Amino acid sequence: MFNKILIANRGEIACRVAATARRLGIKTVAVYSSADAHAKHVAVCDEAILIGEAEARHSYLLADKIIQVALQSGAQAIHPGYGFLSENADFADNCAKHGLVFIGPPGDAIRAMGSKAAAKQLMEQAHVPLVPGYHGEQQEVAFLQQQAGKIGYPVLLKASAGGGGKGMRIVEKEEDFAAALASCKREAINAFGDDHVLVEKYLQRPRHIEIQVFADSHGQCVFLFERDCSVQRRHQKVLEEAPAPGMTHERRNAMGQAAVAAAKAVGYVGAGTVEFIANQDGSFYFMEMNTRLQVEHPVTEMITAQDLVEWQLRVAAGEHLPLQQSEIQMHGHAIEARIYAENPEKGFLPATGRLHHLRTPAAVEFELGMQAGQPAAVRIDAGVRQGDSISPYYDPMIAKLIVWGEDRKIALARMRQALAQYQIVGLSCNIGFLQRLCAGEAFSQADLDTGLIARNHDSLFPPAAPVPLHALALAAVSLLLEERRRAGHTADPWSQTSGWRMNGALRRTLRFKTEQEDCVLQLEYQGQGWRLHYGAQSTDVELADEYGADLYLKLGDSTRHGSVVRAAQQFHVFSGGGHWQLEFDDPMQHAGETEAEGGRLTAPMPGKVVAVMAQNGQSVSKGEPILIMEAMKMEHTIAAPHDGVIEEILYGVGDQVAEGAPLLAFKQG
Ligand code: ADP
Ligand code: ADP
Ligand code: MG
Repeated sequence: MFNKILIANRGEIACRVAATARRLGIKTVAVYSSADAHAKHVAVCDEAILIGEAEARHSYLLADKIIQVALQSGAQAIHPGYGFLSENADFADNCAKHGLVFIGPPGDAIRAMGSKAAAKQLMEQAHVPLVPGYHGEQQEVAFLQQQAGKIGYPVLLKASAGGGGKGMRIVEKEEDFAAALASCKREAINAFGDDHVLVEKYLQRPRHIEIQVFADSHGQCVFLFERDCSVQRRHQKVLEEAPAPGMTHERRNAMGQAAVAAAKAVGYVGAGTVEFIANQDGSFYFMEMNTRLQVEHPVTEMITAQDLVEWQLRVAAGEHLPLQQSEIQMHGHAIEARIYAENPEKGFLPATGRLHHLRTPAAVEFELGMQAGQPAAVRIDAGVRQGDSISPYYDPMIAKLIVWGEDRKIALARMRQALAQYQIVGLSCNIGFLQRLCAGEAFSQADLDTGLIARNHDSLFPPAAPVPLHALALAAVSLLLEERRRAGHTADPWSQTSGWRMNGALRRTLRFKTEQEDCVLQLEYQGQGWRLHYGAQSTDVELADEYGADLYLKLGDSTRHGSVVRAAQQFHVFSGGGHWQLEFDDPMQHAGETEAEGGRLTAPMPGKVVAVMAQNGQSVSKGEPILIMEAMKMEHTIAAPHDGVIEEILYGVGDQVAEGAPLLAFKQG
């Protein structure tokens, strides 16, 4: 086994790899960019080396530099994590050339699977079933369009070199083909430097089911069952689970055998995932192979009670696979939710910012959970701590929340509970959305297919419910407590004359705003607390107990508790699984602060300009696309808000733009 490894990644996966290394007594070397100097992965490794600037291509993608650093640090092997260099065949080869072990498959296996099109050709020869489509060399528009016609609409265009959903376009009808192809190719060349595409039949209501495979360098290859990753948004996984609901023993074996055949066909070594797209009737087709550890590997670890990173390290060190196929057992059910910094209510725009407050459900970190050979009920894999920031440079994932239960029902109940306990303040995140998803009929009944989220859009995005009285009471009491503390009262505040009574008023009005409502509360001072009036409701309120941000209130005959976290004028109330953001309308702070945008259009999120479709001085009509920005995994078109004239476009293709930055000067005409 190795004495020291370098982890060529960041965030949760770097921390995840370091946890296993630590358990096995292997020293770890972290690499980091200037944006990550204070990151968790730097703190959890034994050594850390700065390799460059924030942008990944100036740091985490600097293959040669990372190899140099590994050699200097005395590491014997490099773990690439996922993303970044993990599927870079030349990097894998160069590691070997420098006497370093690449903890992953041989370069040639990565190469063979690196192009979705070439991989499909190989799989055809290995008799692995394929989705009908064209995956050849010819790339002329007319030819591809003719192929699409043959396959029959709707078809799916994919970047051959693709990953992370980039470039993928559904084409419903022939008229849309050329525009979709151009857009697919543009995204492909930007993301992968290669604009080859393939065309596939777009399956209706399919499921995404993938098989975890593992091979060693002694010719053994096994599969560790399946993961169902059907719950997706824009072809990106949101929830993953193992085993796949409804999977039969026979089909599991058939898929497992096909996956092992796929791995063997390319001389695979290490951890890999063979992704299948499956019809509701159970028929399945090869989609692609990911030649690395997958984001969702924890659900497999939970049901098999195996540490897949340990398997990777052992196989890379030349050992045999820890278990044979017949020894791999499956127990219970596991579900993973990806917690992202994004705003589901605003089209899932990626969010950036500081995690001002982070409280997680009681959970174990990876190593503790598995050491006893028994999975933990709740596990969190995270690369950030309270106080850390989510920057625009990398993936906006905050954490992975993984639960295990004896069966799916128990696992799901635990997931709902754990999500209800998660508290994040400082940036928008998808926890509320995940809660609705996990509470919804479709996921609860395991009525799964990749269109689940889109189809249930209305129930997943219900109109905002009015803020309940107890949430307002929590915010109000928190505010009053803070005022008392500020005023310097040291004795029991409830026995004191109230500040506002001294000013001659017995009542006080507090105003809180949400995006939907203005909430006006009247508070009346009473001996032990207050009487609170809100619309037609009124109730007595008393503070029963207080532990930091956690308040216990008596509201009439019931007791309510919750946490209130204040960030400037925003009161974040967490109670009973709900989260309300209430802006305190402080009468002391009113100033003329509204300022018109001056005819400028601003960036909706931090990102990069990938196309400019208009020129300075050009007249445009309402809705006409002006430029395209790309952030994280999406393209966003910036269109003219009215008819008018473009006075000046302030950025060019390739420019990085900060959130809120003016993109152009526009004059309404
Ligand atoms: P997985 O297939 O392992 O679940 P994803 O489908 O989420 O992973 O992403 C596919 C690959 O794209 C992963 O290697 C991941 O690291 C990478 N990736 C994820 N988010 C981004 C991003 N914002 N930009 C570039 N690559 C990303
Ligand atoms: P990526 O490299 O981005 O992971 P994949 O080829 O694995 O690309 O596809 C990602 C997702 O797109 C799948 O999980 C599935 O939801 C959807 N998808 C892919 N191919 C098809 C298809 N032929 N029909 C319907 N959906 C598909
Ligand atoms: Mg995929």
